[in-house]
Amino acid sequence: MASSFAKMARQAELTSRGVHVPKEVVDHPPLTIHTLGDAALRQPAKRISKVDEAVRDLARDMLRSMYAAHGIGLAAPQVGVHKQLVVIDLDPENPATPPQVFINPEIVATSGSLTTYEEGCLSIPGVYLQVVRPTTADISFRDEHGRPRRIKADGLLARCLLHEMDHLHGVLFVDRVTDELSLNDGLKEHGFERTAVHTLR
Ligand code: ZN
Repeated sequence: MASSFAKMARQAELTSRGVHVPKEVVDHPPLTIHTLGDAALRQPAKRISKVDEAVRDLARDMLRSMYAAHGIGLAAPQVGVHKQLVVIDLDPENPATPPQVFINPEIVATSGSLTTYEEGCLSIPGVYLQVVRPTTADISFRDEHGRPRRIKADGLLARCLLHEMDHLHGVLFVDRVTDELSLNDGLKEHGFERTAVHTLR
């Protein structure tokens, strides 16, 4: 059991060598995550023209900062970098599963069916609210090696990707919350201003 786990971990390390970082909660993460009310979160991100070592360095620092904050997804604008880069790790406790990197992600199609699910955001700590989104999403992107990829995401991955891709357009999950009462209470309880929310509906 132990040896097969080690082998799996090695394989995961090999396949994700581009951005592999230890999944640990460091005391001093390399990047600061901006919070609701900060203008950096509202600025749209630019496409990345070349996937090079600098981009992979940014992805590694984002992952370190995300693990330190106990998150499962982080978009570059959240750390004040306006580039179309998203990192996701739905299994942050498991060293054998590699994180996923999405560069210049684009929605090819989304399902007509919708799902309501409770979301939170590292930029709005403590606030968890119900958000309606498409159940599945067909997404094209480049990986950390610049290779064009396409996935049909469902479940938590679809949810997380759509949430993180919103960040690339200056949109936050609270903008999509339809329950006004819960929104007001949630923000107030955690010291955020209602005026920082840009209602989309
Ligand atoms: Zn977020």
